[in-house]
Amino acid sequence: MVNSSSHSVLVTDQFHPQTLEQLCCLPNISVDNKPSISRQELLEIIPKYQVILTRSGTSVDQQLIDAGSSLQVVARGGVGIANIDLEYATKKGILVVNAPGVNTQSAAEITIALLLSMTRKLPEAQTNLKQGGWDRHRFKGSELNNKTIGIIGFGHVGRRVAMIASGFGMTVEAYDPYIAPQIFDYAKVTRRNNLNELTSSCDILSPHVPLNEETRGMIGEKQLMSLKKSSWVLNTARGGVICEESLIKVLNSGHLSGAAIDTWESEPSPRPELVNHPLVYGTPHIGAATEEAQLRVGQKIVAQIHKALSGDVVDHPVNIPGIESTLGQSTSPTRTFMVLAEKLGRLAQQILEFQPSIVELNLPKNLSDPEKNLLTIAFQKGYLFQVSHEFISYANATVKFANTGLSINLISEVDQPNVFPSSFEDTAITITLRH
Ligand code: NAD
Repeated sequence: MVNSSSHSVLVTDQFHPQTLEQLCCLPNISVDNKPSISRQELLEIIPKYQVILTRSGTSVDQQLIDAGSSLQVVARGGVGIANIDLEYATKKGILVVNAPGVNTQSAAEITIALLLSMTRKLPEAQTNLKQGGWDRHRFKGSELNNKTIGIIGFGHVGRRVAMIASGFGMTVEAYDPYIAPQIFDYAKVTRRNNLNELTSSCDILSPHVPLNEETRGMIGEKQLMSLKKSSWVLNTARGGVICEESLIKVLNSGHLSGAAIDTWESEPSPRPELVNHPLVYGTPHIGAATEEAQLRVGQKIVAQIHKALSGDVVDHPVNIPGIESTLGQSTSPTRTFMVLAEKLGRLAQQILEFQPSIVELNLPKNLSDPEKNLLTIAFQKGYLFQVSHEFISYANATVKFANTGLSINLISEVDQPNVFPSSFEDTAITITLRH
């Protein structure tokens, strides 16, 4: 995949010392660790490196990519790739890899930690004790056992929270319209058909969705007021999923027992009236800040760099430079169909009226198997566009789509419905969603 011989890696963000050790142990590699490098120095020295390893602190933009005349791999420790100009990297033939899925356990654990802190009033009890107090009656809390937790977004973190919550004897309900019903059955979680059904039945509400157009403010005053009186609310997903203004209003009304928050609308300066609210328990977005998650991110990204440099297929590609840049410039019918299949994927996700288990893709009869495969990937990419919190590309769409539990049936041998003008008859794509 990438030329062999010796390689130089530039590290431009903070990583765990063990990650640097693991990196230095790779064969034929030299590593420069410059986590505080200035932009100017970066632009000056980047030409001699084949790999840049970053987190979110370095902007890998067009200027840096142009300056990096030897760059072959951009490695992102973590999932977000907002700081990387992916399209330009792809055009320049540079492989981008990342390290997804390393924070799931830490994020799930902080959710439960915040929940316990809130329901048992641990922060106040500790403060009281340290101030010389022994006020046992003031800190009477509530058990989690037999309470119902309502999870919005049954992805990686949502499923892990469900598992831990079950261990506490809680009833778990979840709402996620983009996941096949079997996934809920398998996890022994009650599936709710809409948000309202979920909010009206739970004692604790915990969103685990990505932040996007659809989910921004999805929990507002109406949803908070529809919770049972004295419920608790959590947010360890992304600030903005719960409308903070509404949350303050509903907390002030006395309808809720409390809210515990790790992720805030405006970071790093969250609203003082929320942070200082007596019913709010808060942490400064430390969901992923564990020794284990930091080690995992390092291990995963070093493995990706190793595979890329040894010519192996990487496990977590964000792009496929050769294929994507060729397709990007191509005006071939396959390219046109890929655009169409991706748009149909987006449309299917947006107009879902029930929770499907099966997607039937009826593709043009005359396509080859690799072409059908590309169209399937394009559909998956479109479907996941608003659904996953990770960036979805042609490189990772199939792997990420597996999380939905939806199966795809290709039925391209079946005749196309005769609803298109005759000249298009053989070139229609139809998508059917089935229970
Ligand atoms: P994921 O992509 O695996 O799961 C997200 C789930 O949300 C998917 O199953 C998707 O179908 C569902 N979803 C999307 N839109 C929805 C909607 N409108 N209604 C209901 N469900 C919807 O993501 P994940 O890894 O589980 O992460 C979940 C959230 O937790 C993300 O926002 C992520 O950024 C956040 N997170 C926070 C921390 C932290 O430090 N606090 C750490 C890790 C993850």
